[in-house]
Parts: sequence; structure tokens; C-alpha cells
Amino acid sequence: AYFIVILFISRLISTAGKSKPWTTFLPPKLFLNVDFAERIHTDPLAIKSASTDYGNIIHQKPAAVLYPSSVQDILSLITYAYNFSTPPFTISARGRSHSVSGQAMAPNGVVVDMMRLRSYTEKNGVEIFKSPSSGFYADVGGEQLWIDVLKATIEHGLAPTSWTDYLYLTVGGTLSNAGISGQTFRYGPQISNVYEMDVITGRGELVTCSAQKNSELFFAVLGGLGQFGIITRARIAIEPAPKRVKWVRMLYSDFSAFTKDQEHLISKNGRKQSNAVDYVEGSLLMDQGPPNNWRSSFFPSSDIPRIMSLFIQHRIIYCLEIAKYYYDDATTQHSAAKELEQMYGELSFIAGFKTEKDVGYVEFLDRVRNGELKLQSEGLWEVPHPWLNLFLPKSSISDFNSGVFRDIVLKRNITTGPVLVYPMNRNKWDDRTSAVIPDEEVFYTVGFLHSSGFDDWQRYDDQNKEILSFCDKAGIKVKQYFPYYKTKEEWIKHFGSKWRSFRERKALFDPKMMLSPGQRIFN
Ligand code: FAD
Repeated sequence: AYFIVILFISRLISTAGKSKPWTTFLPPKLFLNVDFAERIHTDPLAIKSASTDYGNIIHQKPAAVLYPSSVQDILSLITYAYNFSTPPFTISARGRSHSVSGQAMAPNGVVVDMMRLRSYTEKNGVEIFKSPSSGFYADVGGEQLWIDVLKATIEHGLAPTSWTDYLYLTVGGTLSNAGISGQTFRYGPQISNVYEMDVITGRGELVTCSAQKNSELFFAVLGGLGQFGIITRARIAIEPAPKRVKWVRMLYSDFSAFTKDQEHLISKNGRKQSNAVDYVEGSLLMDQGPPNNWRSSFFPSSDIPRIMSLFIQHRIIYCLEIAKYYYDDATTQHSAAKELEQMYGELSFIAGFKTEKDVGYVEFLDRVRNGELKLQSEGLWEVPHPWLNLFLPKSSISDFNSGVFRDIVLKRNITTGPVLVYPMNRNKWDDRTSAVIPDEEVFYTVGFLHSSGFDDWQRYDDQNKEILSFCDKAGIKVKQYFPYYKTKEEWIKHFGSKWRSFRERKALFDPKMMLSPGQRIFN
């Protein structure tokens, strides 16, 4: 332990000269006395893995990495930084590190590798409860992956209410953003489905918070980009899990017909009908790539030539994706099919371009995993990912289509990754959280999920910049999801009317500005 501590201190000293003003070395005596010293790692492997993320574009070295064996280790680290280090060093929780712009990094600070906690937790870090008033709920560790939460709950015929498309993300990581997917229009983002959390604040206090108790902290942390504390436990909504899913994709050549149908499906009227669907997403299919991609291989090969022939005519095809859950017995399967049949009559997709699948619920939720494994086996998963994710108001979606999809994207002709487009309802989001969304009742998410080569990510980054600049000039009030900005002014603009409370909450819960420096908001 002594040797590790000396290594750690010498590394901090060696980086101190080059470091930013808030970084310092840790006073040796105090550090020797802390009980987590053995869990501090400064070896090249630990440093390297904490210096990268899914984006694989920004790389920033921490001075050390904590592999916590308990919540107490994290508490001790933050308490130590807050009380005994002058000036304090920065600390970042690192979940699965599936951020794309260094958000989970801590240059010259300490990264807390949350995933390490998983080997110390029992029952997958998931405990299930039933309350007479609020039904089922589960307590899950902030370090847990959503796939493990699913595995633990499904054994009891239960599952979380709100999802992301991809499940190998941590609970703490998605709650620090929002956690969205095709279910969001109906059930809200994941941050709308949390009852309570345990959070270690930047003051080194372990606080239980909810909408009723310590509510300022509760709402600050949800969508709070890791700025106010480290989530160690979240109490989340769960419900009886459907068994199977009718999963359908329909193609459109007309963007306004496509968005009109999406908006109908997520509208109050659309949701009230007995044939309401549980999931609505959408994507662009373009002549730059095949209709099937890593994220979703859906269309049978026999359909590919027909779909490709649509590209020749239209260059961009819009794909509406819906899912309807059902509970397995023949009656519900039959009625789900009948209800869908009724609903098709209300939609304006191109006749003959509808593909249906009937899959198990877990298979549906875990649908992105196969693509990941395939790319991993081809060495194509750990490439740069110059992603751009946006929220934009419904009133601008048509201008966005003509200015971005049909102009910038087609002209540049470089899009190779999936491009997602789907709407959601603002009333399913709680405005008291830190998450920032457009000011209209219906808004869209658009995600450009590019993969690039190591030497050409800049081309995608340039396209992203051109898209943002187009929106700015056209007066389209976009908000970035997983935001990445370089200046404080951009952050202030991003938060808009929420900036003041965001800043005040920072002063309250992390006054020394130690947490999540990789977001580059206060550091
Ligand atoms: P990290 O990248 O490790 O951390 C993100 C931020 O949260 C950092 O600031 C970090 O410091 C902070 N943080 C991490 N853990 C904690 C904690 N316990 N307490 C407090 N702060 C913490 N998002 C969606 O909403 N829907 C999707 O469908 C979706 N699909 C994705 C698919 C892929 C392949 C990828 C790469 C990303 C996807 N995302 C999606 C984005 C993803 O939700 C965010 O990048 C999320 O932050 C990733 O979680 P993580 O565990 O990797 O967090």
C-alpha cells in the first residue's frame, strides 16, 4: 500500500507543474491515513483506460483512478478532496464511459471507476420492493448496467418502465443525462422514473434525496451532468414486464407524412386509442449506406433491392419504427395484431413497405447488442465516434429536414452511421430537473451516430459544426443532448433560463467545483 501511495503522490507531483490551478498533489500524511489508499491506481493501464471514452477523440489523463470496493471509498475520497486538499483536486465518476467528448474524464484529477463496484454488490446491485401505494420499485446501484437491472427484474416478471435503446450503460451515467428511447413519449425519460436517490455531494456528504426530501439535490442531479454529486443508489419505477413485442418498420418518402404519423402516434388521441403503441422511433435511410446498419439489422435480405430502388428515386427514405407489447397468451397476441392492423389504416407509409417482426421482450430491449458484438469482432467498435445528438422543437423539424438532411447531409455525402429522428412530449419531463429541452410541447430528438476512421473524424465534426451553425442562422432553437461546449458563454446559452439555478445548485452542492470536470462547465 505504501508503494502505491508513493507512486500516486509522485505522479501527482510530476503533473502538478503542468496542471490547471484547481489541481494539486495530495498531502502525503493525510493520504497515508485514508482507508481507500489501496484502491488508488496510477499504473499505465488504469490511467490509459480512464483517459478514453466511446467517442475516442478526446483523451485526457487523470492523475489516478479509484477502483472503489464500497460506497464508503467514494465518500472518503470526496470528503478528503473537499476537506483536506488545498486547492482540491477534481473527481469524475466514470460509468461505462460511453460519453463521446471526454465528459467522464478528470484531467489531472481522480477518476472513480464506478463499474468496479459491481463485483462487490450482491444480487446484481438490484433489490425489488412492492409498496401498497406506488406498486413495484427497485433499488439499483448507480454503477449497475441497465442490462443487469433488466436481468435481475425480469426473473420476477418485472422490468423498468423507461429505457435507453442500448442497455450497456450505467444507471448513474444515463440519469446524469436523461435516458431516452422510443418509450419516452409515453413513459417519460429515465429521469422521470426515479423515486429516490443516494448521492455523495461535492461536500462529501451522503444524502438520500427525493421529490419530497432534499428535493433541490434530487432535481439537480437528474440530468445534472455529474455536477452535483455521485449517484450511488437510485430507486426506480418498475412494472410487470410484457412477454412479447410486435415490432414494425414502415417506409416513407415524404418527410411531412412521416412526422405527421409519428406525432399522431405520440399524441394524446393516438395514445388513448386501444390500438396505442408502446414505442415510437424513426430513422433516415440514405443512399450512402445499406438499409440495415450495425445498430439494427431489421429488413430481410429479400427486401433490400426493393428498398434500394426507393433510394434511386428519393435519395432519403424515412423509416417509422413502432412496437406494441403484449402478454403472451393467444388472446393478447391476437388482439395486438388486430389493433396494429387497424392502426396501419391511419398511417401514410408507402404501400407495401411495412416489415413486421414478433420477438421476445428482452430481445427487443437488447436489440442493439448484436450489432455491438459484430462490430467488436471486426475491430470496428473502438473507432472514433463524432456523434451529434440534438433536441429541436416540432415547429422547426421541417426546416431541419430541408436545411440539414436534404442539403448539408446529402451534399457532404459522408453519413455512414444511423441517423435517428423521433418526437416526444414535454409534459413527460419534469422541468425541475437539470435536463434542458426545447420550449415546445412536442419536440424531436435527432441523433447522428457516426463512426469514422482514426484519420477522418474531422470531416464528421465539420459536418456537425455546419449543422449547428445552420440551426443558429435559421433561428432553430436546438439543444444538444450529451452537450459538448468549449466556452462558458455556450453553456449559459445552452441552459438558458435554467442557468441561474444550475449555477446556484453548483455553489450549494459542489462549492469547490471538484466534480465532473470533463463536462467543462465550471472548470
Ligand atoms: P459515462 O460516460 O461514464 O458518464 C457520463 C457522465 O455522467 C459523466 O459526466 C460522468 O461523470 C457522469 N456519471 C457517471 N456515473 C455517474 C454517477 N454514478 N453519478 C453521477 N454522475 C455520474 N443515451 C440515451 O439516452 N438513449 C440511448 O438510447 C443511448 N444509446 C447509446 C448507445 C451507445 C452505443 C452509446 C455509446 C451511448 C448511448 N447513449 C444513449 C448515451 C448514454 O446514455 C450516455 O453517454 C451516458 O452518459 C452513458 O452512460 P455511461 O455509464 O457510459 O456514463
